[in-house]
Amino acid sequence: MSTLPQERRVVTAIPGPKSQELQSRRTASVAAGVGSVMPVFAARADGGIVEDVDGNRFIDFGSGIAVTTVGASAEAVVRRASAQLADFTHTCFMVTPYEGYVEVAEQLAELTPGDHAKKSALFNSGAEAVENAVKIARAYTKRTAVVVFDHGYHGRTNLTMALTSKNMPYKQGFGPFAPEVYRVPVAYGYRWPTGAENAGAEASAQAIDQINKQIGAENVAAIIIEPVLGEGGFIEPAKGFLPAIRQFASDNGIVFVADEIQSGFCRTGQWFACEDEGIVPDLITTAKGIAGGLPLSAVTGRAEIMDAAHSGGLGGTYGGNPVACAGALGAIETMRELDLNAKAKRIEEVMKPRLTAMQEKFDIIGDVRGRGAMIAIELVKSGTKEPNPEATAQIAKACHTEGVLVLTTGTYGNVVRFLPPLVIGEELLTDGLDVLEAAFAAL
Ligand SMILES: *Cc1c(COP(=O)(O)O)cnc(C)c1O
Repeated sequence: MSTLPQERRVVTAIPGPKSQELQSRRTASVAAGVGSVMPVFAARADGGIVEDVDGNRFIDFGSGIAVTTVGASAEAVVRRASAQLADFTHTCFMVTPYEGYVEVAEQLAELTPGDHAKKSALFNSGAEAVENAVKIARAYTKRTAVVVFDHGYHGRTNLTMALTSKNMPYKQGFGPFAPEVYRVPVAYGYRWPTGAENAGAEASAQAIDQINKQIGAENVAAIIIEPVLGEGGFIEPAKGFLPAIRQFASDNGIVFVADEIQSGFCRTGQWFACEDEGIVPDLITTAKGIAGGLPLSAVTGRAEIMDAAHSGGLGGTYGGNPVACAGALGAIETMRELDLNAKAKRIEEVMKPRLTAMQEKFDIIGDVRGRGAMIAIELVKSGTKEPNPEATAQIAKACHTEGVLVLTTGTYGNVVRFLPPLVIGEELLTDGLDVLEAAFAAL
């Protein structure tokens, strides 16, 4: 565990001179297609703070996109991963297996919803997990079609680009995309034409009607949904939507896949966001928060579905790397020991009332939503619901300049999202919210 002081501190212009120097080296050697939210280079990170190479300390409201839930240098992650590094870095699970991989699969079976027999396969990235969920569902059902939702995000590989809804920046110029992918409406309460209270019933009816009419339920291998849509703008499908889609999948022999890559592992105040409405998915994809920052992902689900792919059909050289598995065991240990689900709920208790109060003061805040430590505000033009990406970018920039690392998101680029590490101190949360409020006041 690093001894990084848990305090915001801005000692240079943002970016500072050392970051600027690194940025020019980066521009010369790193492909332009890889972007960064802020041009400051990290030196250390721990708890709720990221420190840059110029000594500026930023309050971390991003967790490296919902990854460092337990902090960026959590004691148990460092301890277990370091010990594993010293023992061996890699043998390849497909060559000579090791215990850590099996232990992670056992933990996933225990933590994911449902008490049926479960199995897992481990991979490196979220996109890879989603791709494999599709392979497994197709092998099990012997069907090909995959249904996804408006505003959904599932990754940047060819198949997951097809599954992802937003063109710019994720798909523009990168086609052709994988076939047999179909997109249907989701219950986006704030923007549902007849109001949030009708969104669950109406959107699920529309989605099911489109599946029946345009694809034929008997051709659908999998329905894939994020229980809280991340890149789409932290959209919580209106109540009733997820249960209706889950039921439709069960009635038609379709594999229901919950993509919990962003929403999972205590982020929303539960181990998995789909627990909120009692949803038990057939398959669940996890990554991001799973391993305290080390690259690991998983597909977990009903044993009979997971076993449908033939031996050798799943895997990858690095999938379930032993150091990453050790990191995951350390992260899960931390989540249990510090009761990070309770911490996420506490973060919601601190943030939501402050954001709601800001919404009353600043009419460009159209909506405050999310749960646990997955909270967002949607910005609009005054007196309308018209998206306001310009103000969103300005607010984010103002926060960055004052030492608060916030991320934006949303199909319309008009959502500021808050994904603090769950171990963040309450003073940092409050300080970060003060900075945000001042940014709105100055706009
Ligand atoms: C980030 C994300 C992915 C892709 O994960 P990568 O590790 O970036 O490939 C897939 N689904 C959801 C819901 C995500 O948030």
